[in-house]
Amino acid sequence: MTTKVERAEFIDRRLAELYPETPVPLDHRDAYTLLVAVLLSAQCTDKRVNLVTPHLWALADTPAKMALVPVAEIQRVIRPCGLSPQKAKAIAGLSRILVEKHRGQVPRTFAELEELPGVGHKTASVVMAQAFGVPAFPVDTHIHRLAQRWKLTNGHNVEQTEADLKRLFPQERWNQLHLRIIFYGREHCTAHGCDGTDCEICRTVAPERKRPVKTKK
Ligand code: SF4
Repeated sequence: MTTKVERAEFIDRRLAELYPETPVPLDHRDAYTLLVAVLLSAQCTDKRVNLVTPHLWALADTPAKMALVPVAEIQRVIRPCGLSPQKAKAIAGLSRILVEKHRGQVPRTFAELEELPGVGHKTASVVMAQAFGVPAFPVDTHIHRLAQRWKLTNGHNVEQTEADLKRLFPQERWNQLHLRIIFYGREHCTAHGCDGTDCEICRTVAPERKRPVKTKK
């Protein structure tokens, strides 16, 4: 497979066969609880977030209720997710802004989402894709690593990887595909688990590869 387009077509097809269903990994009830869950998942596993959020929702599960909860109380509950001082401050802050500026609703634009405290482009992309069904290609560490291993990008940085993947895959495939890549990354293609020659995917997209592949963070 010599061209990036050929590799992308193979990967899209093969991952759809392996993961026909693409359930959202973070448990949530609506756009707001998804936004908060994604924020909590920074440097934390989805599994851990899903253990913590039922306790957080018991405290408050709407922006209006959360805006009334002391930051220290939020921090106590979310401590197992790590970075809890910053995350608690961000959750309190964004909840207040949603009430004051967005009538208690999660805004449906990248720009307004990325204005919220603790919400970067990746988090905004996850919410746009998984809560609102708007095509997006959030690039996390798994996707950044696999896209390099599959020779779809040079991995200069996550912005470059996002731009390359958006160019290579049809827009209507993005929302399911980014989840499928994450699923494959977690199940088979871990950070230290492979040198890039083991499984059928790399053997198909990089048959010439003889030495372990190094990826940029
Ligand atoms: S060979 Fe290794 S690096 Fe390549 S896709 Fe398979 S598990 Fe990932």
